[in-house]
Amino acid sequence: MTEKLGFIGLGIMGLPMALNLKRAGFDVAVYNRTASRGDALKAEGAKICATPKEVAENADIIFICVSDTPDVEHVIFGAGGVVEGAKAGAVVVDMSTISPDATREFAAKLKARNIDLVDAPVSGGETGAIAGTLSIMAGGTVEAFSRVKPYFEKMGKNIVHVGASGAGQVAKACNQVVIAVSIEAVAEAMLLAEKCGVDAGKVREALLGGFAASKVLDIHGNRMLTNDYKPGFKAKLHAKDMAIVMETAAKAGVALPAATLATLNLGAVIKNGDGELDSSAIYKVLKKN
Ligand code: NAP
Repeated sequence: MTEKLGFIGLGIMGLPMALNLKRAGFDVAVYNRTASRGDALKAEGAKICATPKEVAENADIIFICVSDTPDVEHVIFGAGGVVEGAKAGAVVVDMSTISPDATREFAAKLKARNIDLVDAPVSGGETGAIAGTLSIMAGGTVEAFSRVKPYFEKMGKNIVHVGASGAGQVAKACNQVVIAVSIEAVAEAMLLAEKCGVDAGKVREALLGGFAASKVLDIHGNRMLTNDYKPGFKAKLHAKDMAIVMETAAKAGVALPAATLATLNLGAVIKNGDGELDSSAIYKVLKKN
């Protein structure tokens, strides 16, 4: 059965993800708070809606990709929200990066209305969203995951059902720990080379051929050495994700010393007025100290 789709949140990530669903031939109803972001989808024949409620009235599966936990809560449960228009049996798929605990609360509230929630945050950035090669980490029931998987395949390549509700957001928190700590490590290595009077670019080149090689050394390392901090992934969004990591770790009773340090340095990036820059601007903070 081909189901009718909805998409709420057409930002850097949501717009290309929704375009990939539309271009795959599905009916897609969309909503964005800033209406002009829907123009490209309108041109492709998508239905433009005035509210999340209207999206839900026109869809069996409703994808969401907005900024943070309160924003997801607002588009689902706020005035004119998804629950006002969704039919029993619908599935809400939240692809934003938000709190795992809040996700479980939202899932329970939706279940009481016979609506499933799948949490499905992504990794791969704008490039992956445009190319349809995102890594998608999902939480929810096997049945709900199986129902939405064909649509995930139009947006991503590595699609993993991690576990029950909230498990996708826990996986994304783990992802952000690895990225933040890697950026910190690359920044420290580049700084050490520089302070030793050695060409940091040559050091990066040498390291890229060995066990220290990584996407972060390649991409973020290059951003640091060329002083090009155009995002990528904004430091303020990475800091938002690390706040989720810290809260999740505290609740689980686990200390994350390296992630804590990277979180502090992301905070310093924002304090320096660089929150809109790529999170590799951690290097600027280290250089200043
Ligand atoms: P973005 O470009 O800033 O877009 C955010 C979207 O959310 C916009 O469509 C915005 O609408 C909408 N929005 C925010 N608050 C809202 C509210 N209260 N009500 C209704 N709509 C609201 O951000 P993005 O980069 O696409 O990120 C979206 C999510 O994906 C975030 O959770 C982020 O952490 C995650 N993510 C991002 C990346 C990346 O590389 N960028 C990678 C992986 C995951 P307006 O257009 O009206 O502002």
